[in-house]
Amino acid sequence: MLDIKITKTTAPKAKPADESKLGFGKLFSDHMFLMDYTDGEGWHDARIVPYAPFELDPACVVFHYAQEIFEGMKAYRTADNTIQLFRPDCNAQRMQDSSDRLCIPQIPVEDFVQAVKALVEVDKDWVPHTDGASLYIRPFVIASDIGLGVHASKHYIFCIICAPSGAYYAEGINPVRIYVEDEYIRAAPGLTGFTKCGGNYAASIKAGELAEQQGFAQVLWLDGVEKKYVEEVGSMNIMFKIDGKVYTAACTGTVLPGVTRRSCIELLKDWGYEVIEGKLAIADVMKAGHEGRLEEVFGTGTAAVVSPVKELDWKGDKVFISDGKIGPVTQKLYDTMTGMQWGKLPDTKGWIVPVCKG
Ligand SMILES: *Cc1c(COP(=O)(O)O)cnc(C)c1O
Repeated sequence: MLDIKITKTTAPKAKPADESKLGFGKLFSDHMFLMDYTDGEGWHDARIVPYAPFELDPACVVFHYAQEIFEGMKAYRTADNTIQLFRPDCNAQRMQDSSDRLCIPQIPVEDFVQAVKALVEVDKDWVPHTDGASLYIRPFVIASDIGLGVHASKHYIFCIICAPSGAYYAEGINPVRIYVEDEYIRAAPGLTGFTKCGGNYAASIKAGELAEQQGFAQVLWLDGVEKKYVEEVGSMNIMFKIDGKVYTAACTGTVLPGVTRRSCIELLKDWGYEVIEGKLAIADVMKAGHEGRLEEVFGTGTAAVVSPVKELDWKGDKVFISDGKIGPVTQKLYDTMTGMQWGKLPDTKGWIVPVCKG
């Protein structure tokens, strides 16, 4: 149990007047959670304080060597004003796995969940009321040693900030065009693909920008060794329904183990679908597409829940999926997941963790 000291702001900001204009990650709530790590002492000084800029030395390790990890999750408001989280223990566990790879000291799962809950409760009025809108929660750890030597830092800061964010599909679910990336890679065996570290994102921006310039929403990443097997789409996991079966890349080090991915797999299996976690060649995906056997393609992630794909372009070859519409299984996953998250459907899986009444 953390002993969290709470200092509330004396100058609360005005809540957004129009929740439909929130967008994503642009506005932040009144408070943030902080905890420090010092070698020899461990994690200490858990506290919730008014949201404010950091003052950091320009020689701080994180600025130079990117020793940093983060998480992404949401708090949802139900119709009866319960504020709730979705599988926060999964995020806590994944941050431990990221920590281990980046040589960052781990935070116990129960302390992580306690910190998130405490901050969400303090800022509960910042959880939006609009259908589909939520409070996006961004926990992160940065290395805060001062000095340019390359080594694991002896000091860290764990911080959690919250951003009230609008509905991802404010204008309805629009299937997207995806560029199959044939030059750049996101991950390779032995690297950090399975972690949520800022460095992975820094290295992926260029491919995303180039794809966007050509009118694509995102890139589909292939494996980093042979550029032959499908791995992820943008910053989401990806699933393919071919001949009635659902295929997705296995989490063997190069794929980020998404909480949404894992939840979708569990639901699909409950519904009787065969789910195959393994290698799926892009050539076989394109072939299935041309033969009319590629039934649905969708990304999965916390922000969108599911993101249907209507077109894949690989080396000039194109396939079109589900007549440009969201497929029935994609839709059912979306309805079931969002139904539980916003409390419109019963939580039959034990995935919902209530925080407080809002
Ligand atoms: C966060 C993330 C995902 C999705 O994970 P969720 O836990 O479902 O939000 C997928 N791929 C990458 C690269 C990510 O960073």
